[in-house]
Amino acid sequence: MKDKVLIVEDELDIAELIKVHLSELDLEAEICGHGDLALKMALNQDFQLVILDVMLPGTNGLDICRELRSAKPLQAIMMLTSRTSETDRVLGLELGADDYLSKPFSVRELQARVRSQLRRVHSLAQSRSQEQNQESAVTCIGDLMVDHRCHLVTYQNEAIELTSTEFDLLSFLGKHPDQVFSRAQLLDSVWGYHHSGYEHTVNSHINRLRTKIEKESSHPEMIVTVWGVGYKLEQSALHL
Ligand code: CA
Repeated sequence: MKDKVLIVEDELDIAELIKVHLSELDLEAEICGHGDLALKMALNQDFQLVILDVMLPGTNGLDICRELRSAKPLQAIMMLTSRTSETDRVLGLELGADDYLSKPFSVRELQARVRSQLRRVHSLAQSRSQEQNQESAVTCIGDLMVDHRCHLVTYQNEAIELTSTEFDLLSFLGKHPDQVFSRAQLLDSVWGYHHSGYEHTVNSHINRLRTKIEKESSHPEMIVTVWGVGYKLEQSALHL
């Protein structure tokens, strides 16, 4: 069965263009140009990826992102933003989008990003179907437990709900405690590609992770910023 992508975009020429490029990846795409209807479709149907424009008639893309994320924590969501609007980009990521694409975009960039999101979706589905039969792969760092197969994170025995990108990011850092990674390295390893100018994606995800796992997200003790270099997961902080 082909993967299904929902393209939420009211500019029909852009939507059609995306659809054509997705069909080259052997994907099935549906277009919806109205925010209210798009939210309903995304909530009630199964799409492996939702591509969301921000400015839409009816419910706007940011509100759709917020609602969809709270209803479907693992839904892959990619925002479409205009090159000039930094605010939309930041807001979208902070509301839980996995990635964003700035208009105008190149075909290769679109396809690379879509592929990378779908890879994540499939590896998640695969790990879910394998989890019954296999010993679970668990990383424990102090009170933080990351179960890579069940996609489950607990801290001091309490489950923490993460999006699939947040999970991959934490799980990557958890596999390499105390090692510092630059934003570009994290984009490569977690998102699966690196285009310059997208480092903010990493910052936003780190910030969201911190609000979920740190005692005080403004004074992080676990995911630490190494000034001028990047981020690391502080092993000693987890034994406190
Ligand atoms: Ca629009």
